[in-house]
Amino acid sequence: MRIGIGYDSHRLVEGRNLVLGGVEIPHEKGLLGHSDADVLLHAICDAILGALGEGDIGNHFPDTDPFYKDISSLNLLLNVKALAFKKSYKINNIDSTVILESPRLKGHIYKMVQNISKVLEIEPNRVNIKAKTNEGMGFVGQEEGIAAFAIVSITREDV
Ligand code: MG
Repeated sequence: MRIGIGYDSHRLVEGRNLVLGGVEIPHEKGLLGHSDADVLLHAICDAILGALGEGDIGNHFPDTDPFYKDISSLNLLLNVKALAFKKSYKINNIDSTVILESPRLKGHIYKMVQNISKVLEIEPNRVNIKAKTNEGMGFVGQEEGIAAFAIVSITREDV
């Protein structure tokens, strides 16, 4: 068994859709990035890549590559899963925290879990997503951006 950690943050700007865990969430601002800037999926991708000893999301999907422009990060997660499968690893479980001041994610977490578990081909109870505010402090508190942490454990299948 191996473990990986992932962290990501993106700036909140007007004129972008807010996409978290592959779910489009109604909000007056969205996250700025080369892809859809899904900060939660990026943290999860990095955690899986970390567990695999495969560097980070920037090595695998460079933001200079036009192919990844505005791409759904569910596609990036699919590619990371393919790499894990190729190396005979299965995702055991994921825990994650999204840190944002608003909007409230409560009503969207079920769908995010469904999206992630479907792409990774694991049961939904192996994917945990928590949401917290930053109590008004710092860049998250000032609603300049959203951050996410993820930790994942993976298990080698063929041993
Ligand atoms: Mg990112």
